[in-house]
Amino acid sequence: MKVLKFGGTSVGSAARIKEVAKLICDGEQKIVVLSAMSGTTNSLVEIADYYYKNNASGAIERVNALEQKYYDVIEELYTGETSIKAATELIARHFEYLRTFSNAVFTIFEEKAILAQGELISTGMFQLYLEERGENSVLLPALDFMRIDKNSEPDTAFIAENMAKQLEMNPGKTYYITQGYICRNYYGEIDNLQRGGSDYTASLIGAAIKAKEIQIWTDIDGMHNNDPRFVEGTRPVPYLNFEEAAELAYFGAKILHPTCILPAKLNNIPVRLLNTMEPAAPGTLISLKSNKKAIQAVAAKDGITAIKIKSGRMLLAYGFLRKVFEIFESHQTPIDMVTTSEVGVSVTIDNTKNLDEIVDQLKKLGTVSVDRDQVIICVVGDLQPENVGFQSQAVNAMRNIPVRMISFGGSNYNVSFLIRAEDKKAALQALSAELF
Ligand code: ASP
Ligand code: MG
Repeated sequence: MKVLKFGGTSVGSAARIKEVAKLICDGEQKIVVLSAMSGTTNSLVEIADYYYKNNASGAIERVNALEQKYYDVIEELYTGETSIKAATELIARHFEYLRTFSNAVFTIFEEKAILAQGELISTGMFQLYLEERGENSVLLPALDFMRIDKNSEPDTAFIAENMAKQLEMNPGKTYYITQGYICRNYYGEIDNLQRGGSDYTASLIGAAIKAKEIQIWTDIDGMHNNDPRFVEGTRPVPYLNFEEAAELAYFGAKILHPTCILPAKLNNIPVRLLNTMEPAAPGTLISLKSNKKAIQAVAAKDGITAIKIKSGRMLLAYGFLRKVFEIFESHQTPIDMVTTSEVGVSVTIDNTKNLDEIVDQLKKLGTVSVDRDQVIICVVGDLQPENVGFQSQAVNAMRNIPVRMISFGGSNYNVSFLIRAEDKKAALQALSAELF
Protein backbone atom coordinates (compact mmCIF):
# COMPACT_ATOMS: atom_id res chain seq x y z
CA MET A 1 0.00 0.00 0.00
CA LYS A 2 1.14 3.57 -0.63
CA VAL A 3 0.90 6.51 1.74
CA LEU A 4 0.05 9.87 0.16
CA LYS A 5 0.39 13.12 2.06
CA PHE A 6 -1.16 16.37 0.89
CA GLY A 7 0.02 19.65 2.39
CA GLY A 8 -1.97 22.72 3.40
CA THR A 9 -1.95 24.38 -0.03
CA SER A 10 -2.99 21.14 -1.71
CA VAL A 11 -6.20 21.17 0.37
CA GLY A 12 -6.30 24.96 0.68
CA SER A 13 -9.65 25.60 -1.03
CA ALA A 14 -12.78 23.78 -2.15
CA ALA A 15 -11.37 23.57 -5.66
CA ARG A 16 -8.09 22.10 -4.42
CA ILE A 17 -9.88 19.56 -2.22
CA LYS A 18 -11.83 18.38 -5.26
CA GLU A 19 -8.58 18.04 -7.22
CA VAL A 20 -7.03 15.94 -4.46
CA ALA A 21 -10.10 13.69 -4.36
CA LYS A 22 -9.90 13.22 -8.12
CA LEU A 23 -6.21 12.45 -7.84
CA ILE A 24 -6.47 9.80 -5.14
CA CYS A 25 -9.64 8.07 -6.34
CA ASP A 26 -8.13 5.66 -8.85
CA GLY A 27 -9.42 2.50 -7.21
CA GLU A 28 -6.04 1.61 -5.69
CA GLN A 29 -6.03 1.09 -1.93
CA LYS A 30 -4.08 3.79 -0.08
CA ILE A 31 -3.60 5.80 3.08
CA VAL A 32 -4.08 9.55 2.66
CA VAL A 33 -2.57 11.94 5.21
CA LEU A 34 -3.82 15.52 5.18
CA SER A 35 -2.53 18.77 6.65
CA ALA A 36 -4.83 21.50 7.86
CA MET A 37 -6.05 23.87 5.13
CA SER A 38 -3.33 26.45 4.48
CA GLY A 39 -3.34 29.33 6.94
CA THR A 40 -5.35 27.43 9.53
CA THR A 41 -2.52 26.31 11.80
CA ASN A 42 -1.07 29.84 11.77
CA SER A 43 -4.49 31.19 12.77
CA LEU A 44 -4.74 28.59 15.54
CA VAL A 45 -1.32 29.62 16.83
CA GLU A 46 -2.56 33.20 16.93
CA ILE A 47 -5.78 32.20 18.68
CA ALA A 48 -3.82 30.35 21.34
CA ASP A 49 -1.61 33.38 21.73
CA TYR A 50 -4.62 35.59 22.49
CA TYR A 51 -5.78 33.11 25.10
CA TYR A 52 -2.31 33.07 26.63
CA LYS A 53 -2.50 36.83 26.90
CA ASN A 54 -5.84 36.50 28.64
CA ASN A 55 -7.57 38.25 25.79
CA ALA A 56 -10.45 35.88 25.17
CA SER A 57 -12.38 38.38 23.07
CA GLY A 58 -9.37 38.82 20.77
CA ALA A 59 -9.18 35.03 20.46
CA ILE A 60 -12.88 34.69 19.74
CA GLU A 61 -12.78 37.35 17.08
CA ARG A 62 -10.11 35.32 15.29
CA VAL A 63 -12.06 32.09 15.83
CA ASN A 64 -15.16 33.62 14.24
CA ALA A 65 -13.25 34.92 11.24
CA LEU A 66 -11.68 31.52 10.64
CA GLU A 67 -15.02 29.78 11.06
CA GLN A 68 -16.61 31.94 8.38
CA LYS A 69 -13.92 30.86 5.91
CA TYR A 70 -14.93 27.25 6.45
CA TYR A 71 -18.61 27.94 5.78
CA ASP A 72 -17.55 29.50 2.48
CA VAL A 73 -15.62 26.33 1.63
CA ILE A 74 -18.64 24.18 2.50
CA GLU A 75 -20.81 26.17 0.14
CA GLU A 76 -18.42 25.55 -2.72
CA LEU A 77 -17.46 21.98 -1.92
CA TYR A 78 -20.65 20.01 -1.37
CA THR A 79 -23.83 19.72 -3.37
CA GLY A 80 -25.90 17.18 -1.43
CA GLU A 81 -28.08 18.34 1.44
CA THR A 82 -26.88 15.57 3.77
CA SER A 83 -23.22 16.43 3.27
CA ILE A 84 -23.85 20.16 3.68
CA LYS A 85 -25.67 19.48 6.93
CA ALA A 86 -22.98 17.10 8.21
CA ALA A 87 -20.15 19.47 7.27
CA THR A 88 -21.90 22.45 8.85
CA GLU A 89 -22.32 20.48 12.05
CA LEU A 90 -18.68 19.42 11.93
CA ILE A 91 -17.46 22.99 11.60
CA ALA A 92 -19.85 24.28 14.25
CA ARG A 93 -18.68 21.61 16.68
CA HIS A 94 -14.96 22.34 16.26
CA PHE A 95 -15.37 26.09 16.43
CA GLU A 96 -17.68 25.88 19.42
CA TYR A 97 -14.84 23.96 21.07
CA LEU A 98 -12.36 26.69 20.13
CA ARG A 99 -14.56 29.23 21.93
CA THR A 100 -14.81 27.20 25.14
CA PHE A 101 -11.38 28.27 26.32
CA SER A 102 -12.43 31.81 27.10
CA ASN A 103 -12.53 31.56 30.88
CA ALA A 104 -10.30 28.58 31.41
CA VAL A 105 -6.72 28.58 32.59
CA PHE A 106 -4.60 28.47 29.47
CA THR A 107 -1.53 26.26 29.34
CA ILE A 108 0.48 24.37 26.76
CA PHE A 109 -2.06 21.49 26.96
CA GLU A 110 -4.91 23.71 25.86
CA GLU A 111 -2.69 25.18 23.16
CA LYS A 112 -1.91 21.75 21.73
CA ALA A 113 -5.58 20.81 21.74
CA ILE A 114 -6.30 24.01 19.80
CA LEU A 115 -3.51 23.33 17.29
CA ALA A 116 -4.96 19.88 16.58
CA GLN A 117 -8.25 21.26 15.28
CA GLY A 118 -6.96 22.17 11.81
CA GLU A 119 -6.17 18.60 10.78
CA LEU A 120 -9.28 17.22 12.48
CA ILE A 121 -11.39 19.62 10.41
CA SER A 122 -9.65 19.14 7.06
CA THR A 123 -9.82 15.36 7.25
CA GLY A 124 -13.43 15.39 8.47
CA MET A 125 -14.44 17.59 5.57
CA PHE A 126 -12.48 15.51 3.09
CA GLN A 127 -14.09 12.29 4.27
CA LEU A 128 -17.54 13.86 3.90
CA TYR A 129 -16.64 14.91 0.40
CA LEU A 130 -15.51 11.38 -0.50
CA GLU A 131 -18.77 10.04 0.95
CA GLU A 132 -20.71 12.45 -1.22
CA ARG A 133 -18.80 11.12 -4.23
CA GLY A 134 -19.75 7.61 -3.17
CA GLU A 135 -16.19 6.49 -2.50
CA ASN A 136 -15.33 3.51 -0.30
CA SER A 137 -13.36 5.47 2.30
CA VAL A 138 -12.98 5.75 6.06
CA LEU A 139 -11.45 8.20 8.50
CA LEU A 140 -8.75 6.78 10.79
CA PRO A 141 -8.24 8.90 13.92
CA ALA A 142 -4.53 9.70 14.23
CA LEU A 143 -5.00 10.33 17.95
CA ASP A 144 -5.71 6.58 18.29
CA PHE A 145 -2.44 5.39 16.76
CA MET A 146 0.12 8.21 16.46
CA ARG A 147 2.12 8.57 19.66
CA ILE A 148 5.34 10.08 20.97
CA ASP A 149 7.28 8.86 23.98
CA LYS A 150 8.72 10.62 27.04
CA ASN A 151 11.50 12.13 24.90
CA SER A 152 9.01 13.36 22.29
CA GLU A 153 10.29 10.72 19.89
CA PRO A 154 7.78 8.65 17.93
CA ASP A 155 6.84 5.41 19.65
CA THR A 156 7.26 3.30 16.54
CA ALA A 157 6.19 0.02 18.15
CA PHE A 158 2.97 1.57 19.42
CA ILE A 159 2.31 3.21 16.07
CA ALA A 160 2.83 -0.01 14.11
CA GLU A 161 0.61 -2.04 16.44
CA ASN A 162 -2.22 0.45 16.56
CA MET A 163 -2.06 1.36 12.90
CA ALA A 164 -2.48 -2.34 12.11
CA LYS A 165 -5.43 -2.49 14.52
CA GLN A 166 -7.09 0.45 12.81
CA LEU A 167 -6.72 -1.19 9.41
CA GLU A 168 -8.09 -4.48 10.78
CA MET A 169 -11.08 -2.70 12.26
CA ASN A 170 -11.88 -1.22 8.85
CA PRO A 171 -11.40 -4.04 6.37
CA GLY A 172 -12.09 -3.74 2.68
CA LYS A 173 -11.85 0.04 2.46
CA THR A 174 -10.14 1.57 -0.53
CA TYR A 175 -9.15 4.98 0.91
CA TYR A 176 -7.99 5.42 4.47
CA ILE A 177 -7.93 9.11 5.42
CA THR A 178 -6.04 10.39 8.44
CA GLN A 179 -4.63 13.51 10.07
CA GLY A 180 -1.03 14.59 9.71
CA TYR A 181 0.85 16.39 12.48
CA ILE A 182 -1.30 15.45 15.47
CA CYS A 183 -0.56 12.71 17.98
CA ARG A 184 -0.76 11.85 21.65
CA ASN A 185 2.16 12.06 24.00
CA TYR A 186 3.36 9.57 26.59
CA TYR A 187 0.71 10.77 29.04
CA GLY A 188 -2.10 10.38 26.52
CA GLU A 189 -2.53 14.10 26.03
CA ILE A 190 -3.05 15.67 22.62
CA ASP A 191 0.27 16.72 21.17
CA ASN A 192 1.86 17.24 17.77
CA LEU A 193 4.94 16.44 15.71
CA GLN A 194 5.98 20.12 15.44
CA ARG A 195 5.13 22.59 12.72
CA GLY A 196 5.31 21.02 9.28
CA GLY A 197 5.04 17.61 10.93
CA SER A 198 2.52 16.10 8.53
CA ASP A 199 5.37 14.86 6.37
CA TYR A 200 6.68 13.07 9.44
CA THR A 201 3.26 11.48 10.02
CA ALA A 202 3.27 10.15 6.47
CA SER A 203 6.70 8.62 6.79
CA LEU A 204 5.96 7.14 10.23
CA ILE A 205 2.83 5.52 8.83
CA GLY A 206 4.79 4.36 5.81
CA ALA A 207 7.34 2.73 8.10
CA ALA A 208 4.62 1.25 10.33
CA ILE A 209 2.84 -0.53 7.48
CA LYS A 210 5.99 -1.14 5.40
CA ALA A 211 4.46 0.88 2.60
CA LYS A 212 5.51 0.42 -1.00
CA GLU A 213 6.05 4.17 -1.34
CA ILE A 214 5.50 7.42 0.52
CA GLN A 215 4.32 10.30 -1.61
CA ILE A 216 4.55 13.90 -0.43
CA TRP A 217 2.27 16.08 -2.56
CA THR A 218 2.94 19.83 -2.46
CA ASP A 219 2.71 22.80 -4.80
CA ILE A 220 6.14 22.52 -6.40
CA ASP A 221 7.35 19.85 -8.80
CA GLY A 222 9.97 18.24 -6.59
CA MET A 223 13.12 19.31 -4.80
CA HIS A 224 14.88 21.91 -6.91
CA ASN A 225 18.61 22.12 -7.48
CA ASN A 226 18.68 25.64 -6.09
CA ASP A 227 16.34 28.09 -4.36
CA PRO A 228 13.86 29.32 -7.00
CA ARG A 229 13.22 32.47 -4.95
CA PHE A 230 16.78 33.67 -5.57
CA VAL A 231 17.97 31.90 -8.68
CA GLU A 232 16.39 31.72 -12.11
CA GLY A 233 16.16 28.54 -14.13
CA THR A 234 16.27 26.05 -11.26
CA ARG A 235 14.98 22.57 -12.05
CA PRO A 236 13.74 19.61 -10.03
CA VAL A 237 16.32 16.96 -9.14
CA PRO A 238 14.96 13.61 -10.40
CA TYR A 239 16.83 11.32 -7.95
CA LEU A 240 18.29 11.87 -4.51
CA ASN A 241 19.50 9.27 -2.09
CA PHE A 242 18.27 9.42 1.51
CA GLU A 243 21.43 11.13 2.78
CA GLU A 244 21.37 13.86 0.14
CA ALA A 245 17.68 14.49 0.72
CA ALA A 246 18.19 14.69 4.49
CA GLU A 247 20.97 17.26 4.09
CA LEU A 248 18.88 19.35 1.70
CA ALA A 249 15.75 19.17 3.83
CA TYR A 250 17.69 20.13 6.91
CA PHE A 251 19.69 22.87 5.22
CA GLY A 252 16.88 24.82 3.76
CA ALA A 253 14.86 23.06 1.07
CA LYS A 254 11.41 23.88 2.43
CA ILE A 255 9.56 21.24 0.45
CA LEU A 256 10.17 18.41 2.90
CA HIS A 257 10.32 18.29 6.69
CA PRO A 258 13.79 17.01 7.63
CA THR A 259 12.51 14.46 10.18
CA CYS A 260 10.58 12.70 7.45
CA ILE A 261 13.62 11.04 5.85
CA LEU A 262 14.79 8.83 8.71
CA PRO A 263 11.79 6.45 9.07
CA ALA A 264 11.75 6.01 5.29
CA LYS A 265 15.49 5.40 5.14
CA LEU A 266 15.48 2.89 8.00
CA ASN A 267 12.83 0.86 6.22
CA ASN A 268 14.11 1.55 2.72
CA ILE A 269 10.80 3.00 1.55
CA PRO A 270 11.09 5.34 -1.43
CA VAL A 271 9.74 8.86 -0.92
CA ARG A 272 8.37 10.64 -3.95
CA LEU A 273 7.86 14.42 -3.99
CA LEU A 274 5.04 15.36 -6.32
CA ASN A 275 3.11 18.44 -7.39
CA THR A 276 -0.67 18.59 -6.93
CA MET A 277 -0.91 21.32 -9.56
CA GLU A 278 1.01 19.21 -12.08
CA PRO A 279 0.36 15.56 -11.17
CA ALA A 280 2.00 14.14 -14.29
CA ALA A 281 5.38 15.78 -13.58
CA PRO A 282 7.98 13.21 -12.42
CA GLY A 283 8.99 15.16 -9.29
CA THR A 284 11.83 13.87 -7.11
CA LEU A 285 12.37 10.28 -6.07
CA ILE A 286 14.26 9.79 -2.80
CA SER A 287 15.61 6.26 -2.42
CA LEU A 288 18.88 4.37 -2.27
CA LYS A 289 19.49 5.40 -5.83
CA SER A 290 21.13 8.65 -6.84
CA ASN A 291 23.14 10.34 -9.54
CA LYS A 292 26.68 9.10 -9.17
CA LYS A 293 29.58 11.51 -9.45
CA ALA A 294 27.46 14.63 -9.60
CA ILE A 295 26.62 17.69 -7.59
CA GLN A 296 22.89 17.55 -7.14
CA ALA A 297 21.65 20.69 -5.46
CA VAL A 298 22.31 23.73 -3.35
CA ALA A 299 20.25 24.96 -0.41
CA ALA A 300 20.52 27.75 2.14
CA LYS A 301 19.58 27.87 5.80
CA ASP A 302 18.94 31.33 7.25
CA GLY A 303 19.08 32.67 10.75
CA ILE A 304 22.40 31.15 11.74
CA THR A 305 24.63 32.42 14.52
CA ALA A 306 28.33 31.58 14.53
CA ILE A 307 30.38 31.38 17.72
CA LYS A 308 34.15 31.26 17.74
CA ILE A 309 36.13 30.20 20.80
CA LYS A 310 39.86 30.88 20.65
CA SER A 311 42.13 29.52 23.28
CA GLY A 312 45.82 28.81 23.70
CA ARG A 313 44.70 26.05 26.05
CA MET A 314 43.46 24.09 23.07
CA LEU A 315 47.00 23.69 21.75
CA LEU A 316 48.04 20.03 22.09
CA ALA A 317 45.35 19.54 24.73
CA TYR A 318 42.62 16.95 24.86
CA GLY A 319 39.14 17.36 26.31
CA PHE A 320 38.77 20.95 25.15
CA LEU A 321 36.10 20.20 22.55
CA ARG A 322 34.16 18.13 25.05
CA LYS A 323 34.02 21.11 27.42
CA VAL A 324 32.79 23.33 24.61
CA PHE A 325 30.14 20.88 23.45
CA GLU A 326 28.96 20.21 27.00
CA ILE A 327 28.05 23.85 27.39
CA PHE A 328 25.80 23.69 24.34
CA GLU A 329 24.36 20.40 25.50
CA SER A 330 23.51 21.70 28.95
CA HIS A 331 21.53 24.49 27.26
CA GLN A 332 19.77 22.08 24.89
CA THR A 333 21.15 23.89 21.89
CA PRO A 334 21.97 21.81 18.82
CA ILE A 335 25.10 22.62 16.85
CA ASP A 336 24.95 22.52 13.04
CA MET A 337 28.43 23.19 11.69
CA VAL A 338 31.81 22.79 13.35
CA THR A 339 35.26 23.79 12.17
CA THR A 340 38.42 23.60 14.21
CA SER A 341 42.00 24.70 14.09
CA GLU A 342 44.72 24.01 16.60
CA VAL A 343 43.89 27.15 18.57
CA GLY A 344 40.21 27.66 18.06
CA VAL A 345 36.86 26.21 17.21
CA SER A 346 33.88 27.73 15.42
CA VAL A 347 30.37 26.34 15.69
CA THR A 348 27.00 27.45 14.39
CA ILE A 349 23.58 27.29 16.00
CA ASP A 350 20.14 28.37 14.89
CA ASN A 351 18.42 28.38 18.26
CA THR A 352 19.70 31.44 20.12
CA LYS A 353 17.33 31.21 23.07
CA ASN A 354 20.16 30.50 25.51
CA LEU A 355 22.94 32.29 23.66
CA ASP A 356 23.79 34.72 26.47
CA GLU A 357 24.24 31.97 29.03
CA ILE A 358 26.22 29.88 26.56
CA VAL A 359 28.60 32.74 25.75
CA ASP A 360 28.98 33.49 29.45
CA GLN A 361 30.17 29.96 30.13
CA LEU A 362 32.32 29.73 26.99
CA LYS A 363 34.24 32.77 28.17
CA LYS A 364 35.73 30.60 30.88
CA LEU A 365 37.36 28.52 28.14
CA GLY A 366 38.64 31.18 25.78
CA THR A 367 38.02 34.37 23.85
CA VAL A 368 34.54 34.28 22.39
CA SER A 369 33.17 36.14 19.38
CA VAL A 370 29.64 35.93 18.03
CA ASP A 371 28.43 36.67 14.48
CA ARG A 372 24.71 36.87 13.91
CA ASP A 373 22.74 36.98 10.63
CA GLN A 374 24.73 34.26 8.96
CA VAL A 375 23.58 31.73 6.39
CA ILE A 376 24.70 28.17 5.76
CA ILE A 377 25.01 27.35 2.09
CA CYS A 378 24.97 23.64 1.59
CA VAL A 379 26.15 21.95 -1.61
CA VAL A 380 24.88 18.39 -1.87
CA GLY A 381 25.89 15.55 -4.14
CA ASP A 382 28.07 12.49 -4.53
CA LEU A 383 31.16 14.04 -2.96
CA GLN A 384 33.13 10.89 -2.11
CA PRO A 385 36.79 11.84 -1.68
CA GLU A 386 37.73 9.83 -4.78
CA ASN A 387 35.41 11.92 -6.93
CA VAL A 388 38.05 14.57 -7.23
CA GLY A 389 37.33 18.13 -8.24
CA PHE A 390 33.83 18.68 -6.91
CA GLN A 391 34.86 20.33 -3.64
CA SER A 392 37.22 22.68 -5.40
CA GLN A 393 34.52 23.50 -7.95
CA ALA A 394 32.21 24.55 -5.12
CA VAL A 395 34.95 26.52 -3.39
CA ASN A 396 35.90 28.13 -6.67
CA ALA A 397 32.32 29.28 -7.25
CA MET A 398 32.51 31.14 -3.95
CA ARG A 399 35.68 33.01 -4.91
CA ASN A 400 34.11 36.47 -4.62
CA ILE A 401 32.06 35.77 -1.48
CA PRO A 402 33.48 36.39 2.00
CA VAL A 403 33.33 32.92 3.57
CA ARG A 404 33.35 32.61 7.37
CA MET A 405 33.51 28.79 7.66
CA ILE A 406 33.85 25.78 5.34
CA SER A 407 32.94 22.26 6.35
CA PHE A 408 33.51 19.04 4.46
CA GLY A 409 34.06 15.48 5.57
CA GLY A 410 31.20 15.09 8.02
CA SER A 411 29.48 13.09 5.34
CA ASN A 412 30.37 12.30 1.76
CA TYR A 413 27.31 14.15 0.62
CA ASN A 414 27.79 17.78 1.46
CA VAL A 415 30.13 20.70 1.65
CA SER A 416 28.86 23.67 3.63
CA PHE A 417 29.82 27.32 3.69
CA LEU A 418 28.95 29.88 6.29
CA ILE A 419 28.49 33.36 4.87
CA ARG A 420 26.78 36.65 5.79
CA ALA A 421 23.06 36.90 5.07
CA GLU A 422 23.64 39.82 2.70
CA ASP A 423 25.80 37.62 0.46
CA LYS A 424 23.31 34.78 0.21
CA LYS A 425 21.74 35.66 -3.12
CA ALA A 426 25.10 36.27 -4.80
CA ALA A 427 26.41 32.97 -3.41
CA LEU A 428 23.42 30.94 -4.62
CA GLN A 429 23.69 32.51 -8.05
CA ALA A 430 27.43 31.97 -8.26
CA LEU A 431 27.05 28.32 -7.31
CA SER A 432 24.28 27.89 -9.84
CA ALA A 433 26.36 29.40 -12.62
CA GLU A 434 29.40 27.28 -11.77
CA LEU A 435 27.82 23.94 -10.90
CA PHE A 436 24.71 23.51 -13.04
N1 ASP B 1 -0.63 21.97 9.82
C1 ASP B 1 0.65 21.86 10.41
C2 ASP B 1 1.47 23.09 10.11
O1 ASP B 1 1.02 23.99 9.44
C3 ASP B 1 1.35 20.62 9.99
C4 ASP B 1 1.68 20.52 8.51
O2 ASP B 1 1.05 21.17 7.69
O3 ASP B 1 2.57 19.75 8.18
O4 ASP B 1 2.56 23.19 10.59
MG1 MG C 1 4.92 21.17 4.89
